[in-house]
Amino acid sequence: MLNFAVMTTERKVRVRFAPSPTGGLHLGGVRTALFNYLFAKNKGGDFVLRIEDTDQSRFVPGAEDYIMECLAWCGLSPDESPATPGEYGPYRQSERKPSYLKFAEQLIEQGHAYYAFDTPEELDAQRKLHPNFRYSHENRLSLRNSLSLSSSETATLLSNGTPYTVRMKMPIDETVAFHDMVRGEVVFETNLIDDKVLLKADGMPTYHLAVVVDDKAMDITHVFRGEEWLPSAPIHILLWEYLGWADSMPEWAHLPLILKPDGKGKLSKRDGERLGFPVFAMNWSDPNTGETTQGFRERGFLPEAFVNMLGLLGWNDGTEQELFDLRELVSKFDVSRISKAGAKYDFEKAKWFNQEWIKRTPSEALLPQIKAILNNHGIALSGFSEKKLRSVVDLVKERLTYVEDFWEQAQFFFQQPETYDTSAIKGKWNPEKTVFFQDIKQIFGDQENWEPVQLEKTFKDKISQSGMKIGELMMPFRIMLVGGKFGPDVFRIVELLGKDEVIARIEKALPNFQ
Ligand code: GLU
Repeated sequence: MLNFAVMTTERKVRVRFAPSPTGGLHLGGVRTALFNYLFAKNKGGDFVLRIEDTDQSRFVPGAEDYIMECLAWCGLSPDESPATPGEYGPYRQSERKPSYLKFAEQLIEQGHAYYAFDTPEELDAQRKLHPNFRYSHENRLSLRNSLSLSSSETATLLSNGTPYTVRMKMPIDETVAFHDMVRGEVVFETNLIDDKVLLKADGMPTYHLAVVVDDKAMDITHVFRGEEWLPSAPIHILLWEYLGWADSMPEWAHLPLILKPDGKGKLSKRDGERLGFPVFAMNWSDPNTGETTQGFRERGFLPEAFVNMLGLLGWNDGTEQELFDLRELVSKFDVSRISKAGAKYDFEKAKWFNQEWIKRTPSEALLPQIKAILNNHGIALSGFSEKKLRSVVDLVKERLTYVEDFWEQAQFFFQQPETYDTSAIKGKWNPEKTVFFQDIKQIFGDQENWEPVQLEKTFKDKISQSGMKIGELMMPFRIMLVGGKFGPDVFRIVELLGKDEVIARIEKALPNFQ
């Protein structure tokens, strides 16, 4: 049994986020980036971005820039990346192409890999013949490769320039056991693993070879990646061993899956479309189909909320605390608190995080977005001071799930209501109420000091004198000011609208109420 214990020497912690640039970044991908980042920063280490673009058939233009923008939006800036290279470059796998061949050849010489000359057509024929076809120790000697052919036949094929792939020769009857930081002891039987392609006919390495060679070359000490990569771990571990690098092998952590809301299977982009929530971090426009998929950013999420929510998908600090900023996540991050079980995704909870983060964000910091929203609705900002804008934001902030809700919740501060929801007062209006509001107009007009507590008292005193009930007049007053039965405290609205505007609104509304 091969049992690879990792040497824990005093190496500087170096982790990598290694996405393939194939499309939009799924929230699970960002969670992987985040956990890598949290671990590295908690340990004073480096967070590296490596673009895994060796599968050229899946390459999508624009995807790399998109990944970088997502990381920047989330505040997860890499210490080293294609844009900010360090000493371990290149940071794109395709640019490392020349470095892989010698390792494939080394493995062949050592007897851990072999040349396979089977053409795609031959392999297709095998798949037709055997529906569960796997290229493995069970059939490798009956296929066309350097194990089944004589060495002179192999040499001739190679010198003729026959296209070949290099496959890993999986050992027979062995067990690969290793320690996973999340899962503890993990054991795989080699007999169940097929002979993976390591080098493709175009000379490009496959993921399996590239990931090991690059993690070694970049001195990666810890690998955090999704649980879907767990079956690949024994292949990688054997390669680390065969290439003679076992004592610098990284430690492994396979993160729990992010599951559909009902817990049945992995959350996919299609689930998001079906259930009406985003799955990608930011909008993604597919350059081939022109189709755009909405992202969290464009849906109206603050990056703080998105990151906070991701941080708790499969991790907690052992307390009831749920709100964390990135700095706190870094300081509290502890691998032993990552759970093994898949994390069910709950979009309502994601919205809750956003609400909480909007409340926590200083209004000042929301102003650029607020101004853009007002602009989009044709509001001339010149009429409103920064101070006033801030006060309005302060007042409605706790009602917003998305910053965009600001318009729905606060438009009446910027324009008079066009219509009035008078359903609550229909049939209850009488001439006394009209007189009351005419008097109020007068009284408010005479106010020297436009101060909400005083205005409220004046309003209520006037109601007492009239013999009517507070609710009978308060609700109509609100509707006059905002158009409906909603909004924050009436006298805070009165204060912010200012004297002239309040009087103008009473005047405009009254004829609609009679
Ligand atoms: N390129 C792989 C991906 O797209 C990386 C897996 C790993 O981290 O080893 O997720």
